[in-house]
Amino acid sequence: MEHEWKTIIEPFKIKSVEPLGLTTRAERLEALERAHYNLFNIKAEKVLIDLLTDSGTGAMSAAQWGGIMTGDESYAGARSYYNFENEIRALTGFDEIIPVHQGRAAEKILFSVIGGKGRYIISNSHFDTTRANVEFSGAEAMDFPVKEALDFDKPAPFKGNADVPAMAKFIKEIGAANIPLCVMTVTNNSLGGQPVSMENLKAVQNLCRKHGIPMFLDCARFAENAYLIKLREKGYAQCPVREIAEEMFELADGAWMSCKKDALVNIGGFLAMNNREWSGKARQLLILTEGFSTYGGLAGRDLEAVAIGLREVLDENYLRYRIRSAQYLGEGLLKHGVPIINPPGGHGVYVNAKKFLPRISPSNFPAQALGCALYLEGGIRGVEIGTLMFGRRDPKGAFLPAPMELLRLAMPRRVYTQSHIDYVIEVFGWLAKNKESIKGLEIVEAPAILPHFTAKLKPAK
Ligand SMILES: *Cc1c(COP(=O)(O)O)cnc(C)c1O
Repeated sequence: MEHEWKTIIEPFKIKSVEPLGLTTRAERLEALERAHYNLFNIKAEKVLIDLLTDSGTGAMSAAQWGGIMTGDESYAGARSYYNFENEIRALTGFDEIIPVHQGRAAEKILFSVIGGKGRYIISNSHFDTTRANVEFSGAEAMDFPVKEALDFDKPAPFKGNADVPAMAKFIKEIGAANIPLCVMTVTNNSLGGQPVSMENLKAVQNLCRKHGIPMFLDCARFAENAYLIKLREKGYAQCPVREIAEEMFELADGAWMSCKKDALVNIGGFLAMNNREWSGKARQLLILTEGFSTYGGLAGRDLEAVAIGLREVLDENYLRYRIRSAQYLGEGLLKHGVPIINPPGGHGVYVNAKKFLPRISPSNFPAQALGCALYLEGGIRGVEIGTLMFGRRDPKGAFLPAPMELLRLAMPRRVYTQSHIDYVIEVFGWLAKNKESIKGLEIVEAPAILPHFTAKLKPAK
């Protein structure tokens, strides 16, 4: 008889290791002061468990490292490009495959082609680089998340969904002629890495098709989204996750991907579609700034690693472990009474710092303060998604409170083991019991654009 063991293990063994940055509390306090309480300014070697981002931080497999050695570095028509193109075509069904060095390069090119003043891009939620590139083109980025997305405590299976009636109303008001594109971000990174259901993708596609608006996927985490559909949506439990992913792409007219996420590589991306007019213009821009159309700013070896990673990421043993690790961290935090966006999505856990530290006002950056405390006590690095990152200011330059104060703990792929996560949970347990030790912060100086990367802060008086 086949056993059904309950323990979900890391489905890999470790071939190559890197030491972690072990430091003392005194060393971390010094590092924090030198970094002006901005975790982006901490040297990575002074970080023990780095949960700053899941982007480009994953571990490649032995097969991918093998691909790195056999990559074809020919300028034009390299074999590695055709491996890359074939893999993406087979997965997405799109004909026109354009390589780029990372996701935002695809966004810059696409919105240079279709954006511009007086145009509106509609979405479940734009990721911040997507929004920035839409707005840089002169167009406006409109988000239509479902209401459940903002109720952090109440579990719902598909908090990444778009609010279809709200989208329909907007299309009616603005006119479909002014909306060149609808973008469905899978999973929805800005709102907790939450998945989008197939039902919702179909409803959005229906609406868009009715109005002649193309629908693209911003599919950085398409495999995590597909696996969460398998786990949570009726009718998909028995469906191979690759088929679920293919069905998602079938609904769309195009896609772009930051391969630094679900292609399990450290750099790479693509833009894919069937529209020849758009792809022709996009390739011209590609050649202008990224590189020739068979490498797009990447080395041949990078293209090879993407092709292999796109196959590996759909291994269901990998995805079961991947999704389970975020759930495991989420459950551990909830047990200590640490509020999170519940349930966790695919790529990490978002701690609700506003609820965890109610006595620190938004003007003293509670999520940033929690991030600094987590680093000081445990050497763990997360990232603030709150008043500092949103960065809206009044005319005098004071920060306006953001609607949310989250500390994102993003999990690199195939990098940390369960004991690393147990350690993170233990440190949070201590913080939950010693909340009064966590002090708010105040600004020393902050630039106008993207302040969270370079702002200097200090403990508030
Ligand atoms: C990371 C990401 C991007 C941007 O990709 P980069 O590779 O960081 O340039 C765009 N959209 C989503 C949903 C992302 O997660």
